Amino acid sequence: MIRISNRAKLVTSICTKVFVAMLLGFSVLGSLVLLEYKPVYSVAYGDEDLGYAQNKNVLQKNIENYLQYGDSENVGYVILKEKPEYTFKLAKKDIETNDEEIYAYIKSKCDIYYKVYAVESNDEEVCRVETLAMAQEIVDKANEEQKNYTKKATLTISEKYEKEYEVSSDVEVAVADIIAPVKKLNAEITKIYTTPSTGLTVSAEVLAALKESSKELNFTLPLESYVITSRYGWRRNGTEFHTGIDYAAPLGTPIHAAEDGVVTCAQWSGNYGYLVKIQHAGGFETYYAHCSRFAVSVGDEVKQGDVVSYVGSTGRSTGPHVHLEIRYNGKHMNPADML
Ligand SMILES: [Zn+2]
Repeated sequence: MIRISNRAKLVTSICTKVFVAMLLGFSVLGSLVLLEYKPVYSVAYGDEDLGYAQNKNVLQKNIENYLQYGDSENVGYVILKEKPEYTFKLAKKDIETNDEEIYAYIKSKCDIYYKVYAVESNDEEVCRVETLAMAQEIVDKANEEQKNYTKKATLTISEKYEKEYEVSSDVEVAVADIIAPVKKLNAEITKIYTTPSTGLTVSAEVLAALKESSKELNFTLPLESYVITSRYGWRRNGTEFHTGIDYAAPLGTPIHAAEDGVVTCAQWSGNYGYLVKIQHAGGFETYYAHCSRFAVSVGDEVKQGDVVSYVGSTGRSTGPHVHLEIRYNGKHMNPADML
């Protein structure tokens, strides 16, 4: 038993010595290697050799960060076609590493898609801007400007991703670009809806379109010469409100349309006697009352200055005159403010 024990001790002792010697040997060898060499990574991109990186982790982290966020706020996304490849190497101590250049090169190989905002009018792009806030400002302003038009443009904002882009920087110019075709379209509608018709009624659709359309109105006087016999407002007795202006002229004097429009009434109408009504754009109407006869029919398109009827004294009237009334959305107003 003792002999065996001694033998075991001897074996253990030899093993320990060999192990220590090996450890020492490796350490010395390792130190010698590290004195001469250093660990680096050679970096390749596709077929291209980009040189050596000193710090692979930092380099890779920078690249990943760039791929995720780019380097400016309006970067949508970044695409790198190939993956950089790293190969571990022990290189001579004096070998040059160029992490910065490798990073710059990888960046140059990226496709950057920028995020911009397109403002679209009826699905057609009008302009692009850099921020959502600016796109919204354009849409809000354009909507405000087109609110009185019959036909409005539908405005939308959509995100776009582009490698290269041009953006508008002027809100007013963009708004004007949106409104110009809207104006043109509405002018055409007014034209279509006021084409002469021989029918004795004006369709609700035509009237609605006309009422809602925009046109600059400049009302002119219905008579070439006249004497004003009653103004708009309370009568002297204070019990009756005069809803128009009375222009006296000889019986049969031509009465002219105050503005372009469509005739909506040419018939007897109680106290008004023979009455002509014309619907104008933007919700305005003119009444020509107490006529002796008509020169137009319901549904006729008239131009400013066209003869619509002749001076008479029909209805509640004390002498030949035309009672001119201007109404806006059905409510009478002082014609003197409009003429
Ligand atoms: Zn009157």
